[in-house]
Amino acid sequence: MYKHHSALGVALSLKPAAPVTLIRPQAAARAARFFSQRFPGRSLYAVKANPSPELIRTLWAAGITHFDVASIAEVRLVARTLPQAKLCFMHPVKAEEAIREAYFQHGVRTFSLDSMEELEKIVHATRGAEDLELCVRLRVSSEHSKLSLAAKFGCELADARELLQAARQAADALGICFHVGSQAMAPHAYTQAIERVRAAIVDASVTVDIVDVGGGFPSSYPGMEPPPLEHYFQAIHRAFESLPISYSAELWCEPGRALCAEYSSLVVRVERRRGNELYINDGAYGALFDAAHLDWRFPVQLLRAEANEADIEAFSFYGPTCDDMDHMAGPFMLPADIRAGDYIEIGMLGAYGAAMRTDFNGFGAETVCEVADEPMASLYREDDVPAPRVSNVVQLRG
Ligand SMILES: *Cc1c(COP(=O)(O)O)cnc(C)c1O
Repeated sequence: MYKHHSALGVALSLKPAAPVTLIRPQAAARAARFFSQRFPGRSLYAVKANPSPELIRTLWAAGITHFDVASIAEVRLVARTLPQAKLCFMHPVKAEEAIREAYFQHGVRTFSLDSMEELEKIVHATRGAEDLELCVRLRVSSEHSKLSLAAKFGCELADARELLQAARQAADALGICFHVGSQAMAPHAYTQAIERVRAAIVDASVTVDIVDVGGGFPSSYPGMEPPPLEHYFQAIHRAFESLPISYSAELWCEPGRALCAEYSSLVVRVERRRGNELYINDGAYGALFDAAHLDWRFPVQLLRAEANEADIEAFSFYGPTCDDMDHMAGPFMLPADIRAGDYIEIGMLGAYGAAMRTDFNGFGAETVCEVADEPMASLYREDDVPAPRVSNVVQLRG
């Protein structure tokens, strides 16, 4: 792995003909310290946001000991990378073979579910194990989030009583989890969802040991600057404290985006300019799926040695494949004199960027460089975050 001082340094010294992924382990470590020390409970990293082993090790070293995995491949990856990590299999629709392998070969005890069929599957696959932690996924609103996760998973409140009571019978520890949708722009998203948890607990009259508020914690993008994360934590803490649960119940969260968005960015080259459309060398099939398909806006900056006095204008991008869909509307704000041969840094791509890269049309190769400069935006101010801890001890439930 090359190490460079900055994104500009990478562009000037390598003059790369293919896109380069920049990683900033220090930014991911800062986010992990923030969550592991400021969230009023336990923070699990949602691996799907970015499954890079290097990132996973960085998060571990900064205090993240629990990982939310959603497939058997993710289970194997984290088990191989961090044999001491605790894995929680939080996909509510799993293959029976995956549950069996996770339980018997990788020591996974925590599983989520949202139906009676899945409960029966878990009990069968683990041969009636008596040490299961079962989290019932409730359907909640995604109205405060930029990306809905409300349609596919989650048990309706009306069906929760039966499922919670049955899961209570099968579980050593019973949890309730939900996901408010990704990039939740208001703390209220969580308090509203926790109200639904309250209704489910009261209706089912069961003892709940874990309340897992899921992911959805935001990062900072142009036009999507969220309130401080402390506001989310305070709102969640207050709502959790008021639930009818035992004093020893645990609060969990599963951040994906918030832990890794700042971890990486991309250096691309402009291959052609046509009006205010720039043909760049990465796109919808590379690390920019969300920019193309969800019209997500990412911060951009021109990487040129000389100072630039040109006005800033709005540009759109075309990616390198031959596909019309390989188009990113932006707008991306860049100097008006930008031209072929220039390099651009596209920021905040650590979450759901690199993870979705494909080899389509032969444009999949990825060069990775570590850089020491700051990410293009950050939710974490250095003076906010306690100093790194030296060692990392796996915390056991108690
Ligand atoms: C995707 C996902 C997450 C992470 O969501 P973010 O919005 O990236 O924080 C957490 N939990 C579950 C179950 C998920 O599916």
